[in-house]
Amino acid sequence: MLKSLLIANRGEIACRIIRTARALNVRTIAVYSDADSNALHVRQADQAVHIGPSPARDSYLVAEKILAAARETGAEAVHPGYGFLSENADFAEAVLDAGLIWVGPRPDSIRAMGLKDAAKSRMIAAGVPVTPGYLGEDQSPDRLQAEADAIGYPVLIKAVAGGGGKGMRRVERAADFADALASCRREAASSFGDDRVLLEKYILSPRHIEVQVFGDTFGNVVHLFERDCSLQRRHQKVIEEAPAPGMDEATREAICAAAVRAAKAVDYVGAGTIEFIADASEGLRADRIWFMEMNTRLQVEHPVTEEITGVDLVEWQLRVASGEALPKRQEELEIDGWAMEARLYAEDPAKGFLPSPGPVDLMNVHYDARLESAVEEGDRVSSFYDPMIAKIVAHGETREAARSQLIKYLNTSFVGPLRTNKAFLYECLSLDAFGRGEIDTGLIERTGETLTRRAEPSEKVLESAGRRFRRDWLDGTEWKQRPFKEGLFGFRLNGSSRVELTLFESGKRYSCSIATADTDTGLASDLDRDGTLVVTERGETYFFTTRETTGSAAGHAGDGAILAPMPGRITAVDVTPGATVTKGQRLVTLEAMKMEHSLTAPFDGIVAELNAEAGTQVSEATLLVRIEKSE
Ligand code: ADP
Ligand code: ADP
Ligand code: MG
Repeated sequence: MLKSLLIANRGEIACRIIRTARALNVRTIAVYSDADSNALHVRQADQAVHIGPSPARDSYLVAEKILAAARETGAEAVHPGYGFLSENADFAEAVLDAGLIWVGPRPDSIRAMGLKDAAKSRMIAAGVPVTPGYLGEDQSPDRLQAEADAIGYPVLIKAVAGGGGKGMRRVERAADFADALASCRREAASSFGDDRVLLEKYILSPRHIEVQVFGDTFGNVVHLFERDCSLQRRHQKVIEEAPAPGMDEATREAICAAAVRAAKAVDYVGAGTIEFIADASEGLRADRIWFMEMNTRLQVEHPVTEEITGVDLVEWQLRVASGEALPKRQEELEIDGWAMEARLYAEDPAKGFLPSPGPVDLMNVHYDARLESAVEEGDRVSSFYDPMIAKIVAHGETREAARSQLIKYLNTSFVGPLRTNKAFLYECLSLDAFGRGEIDTGLIERTGETLTRRAEPSEKVLESAGRRFRRDWLDGTEWKQRPFKEGLFGFRLNGSSRVELTLFESGKRYSCSIATADTDTGLASDLDRDGTLVVTERGETYFFTTRETTGSAAGHAGDGAILAPMPGRITAVDVTPGATVTKGQRLVTLEAMKMEHSLTAPFDGIVAELNAEAGTQVSEATLLVRIEKSE
């Protein structure tokens, strides 16, 4: 086994790798940027090396800095995690050239799968079914249009160098093709530095099914069954599970065998994922599942596979990289029960999933849950990187058992005060169709606003908050009594059996009436030392105080000041100074954290100040627009 490992990544995946390395007695070396100087992965590693400023392109994406850190610390191997440099064949090669062990596939395998068109051609040659479409060299708009017409609409245009759900356009009719092509090319050029595209038939009732594969340096390749990642928002995974609902044994065998063929075709070593798209209009059928792409790294959602197979995939990675053979043969692998994972993000679903970086004063996740976390209580989610806070994973004997566990975990976990997508995850898991396993990649978009709006605290939530304040008053310590005392101004006896209390949540005032006979509302609650009472319902977290607190989320200050919620680039300005705007109207579009974010008017008014110009870079909290309320 190798003796020391540098982890060229951050966040939860760096922490995940450190955990296994430590169990195997491997010395761990973290790298970090300015923003991460006190991050969890730095605190957990045996050693840490500073590699530069906060933006990833100045630190985590700079191969030379990572190699220098490895040299300086005498690291024997480099693990790239996912994202960043993990699928960069030149980096893998540089690591090997420096005489270090690369915990990943050979650079040539990464290259072979790096571009979607070349990968598909290779798979066709290996006898793996691929999504029908056009992969040609001829990239002229006329030829592409003719090919799209021949495939038949809807058609999906994909950047050959695309990734992370970016660089894709669905086209419904021939007449829309030219515009969609131009816009897809622009995005591909700016995001991936390569504007070539391929065309695919848009699969209706699409399900995303992927197979975990693993190879060693002796030519052995096994699969560890499938995952279903069909619950997506804008082509990005939200909930993942293993195995896939409705997968029969024969179909499973067929697609897992295809995945192994695909991996063998590129002499694959290490952990990899073969992604397939399935037309599930008549259930899962082997002849309607096609190769989409291969991710030549450990996947974000690898824990669900670990849960159902009992395999530690990071351990396998380190063993294979150390030159050992795969610890298990195919016949020794089986599926045990069902696992489900939810990706918890610092983002605000009610505001178009705008990332909401900030302090995590409270992070208390159900102790039974498997938690893969990037932060601990008291940390911050930085605005410089992907705003993932944690992955919460449940395992049960059946799909229903895993699903209800995960629902319970979300509803009994407290994370804040930054906004998270926890209630959105809860609502997704609670959808009847999801419960029945009737999922496809369009389910979230079709369901719409009921998944994303922030519900006002219900009567039950208010009652629960009031009761908890009162209980702590009756039998609490001094610090617990304080907030209730402060709330007494709103407290009066009403007849004999109810008391009333004034509470504040998200800047709004609520009065709550508590029955003094103590019955439990059944909702989870937690009292913070500063006197904030936290209650959850349907996954939403409510923060109650007995005093009015000031301050509101960046970007929508009450006075109509629209601030940049994070550093980024202005891509569009839709208003002019003095213009009249209506509540919800888009004012400015900001590209940050690989996504476009619309900043909208908080109320009807006029544009009193405009400080944004398309194409310019802005730092966090820059005042972009100020709206004055119209009378
Ligand atoms: P998965 O299927 O494992 O979710 P994704 O392709 O969605 O894989 O991305 C995995 C990770 O890599 C995510 O953290 C994502 O933000 C990051 N990522 C994906 N594409 C890119 C890219 N082009 N540049 C940088 N990071 C990326
Ligand atoms: P990325 O590299 O961004 O992960 P993929 O090729 O894996 O790109 O596609 C991402 C998602 O887009 C898939 O999970 C699926 O939801 C959707 N998708 C991709 N290809 C098709 C297709 N041909 N038909 C329907 N949906 C598709
Ligand atoms: Mg993909």
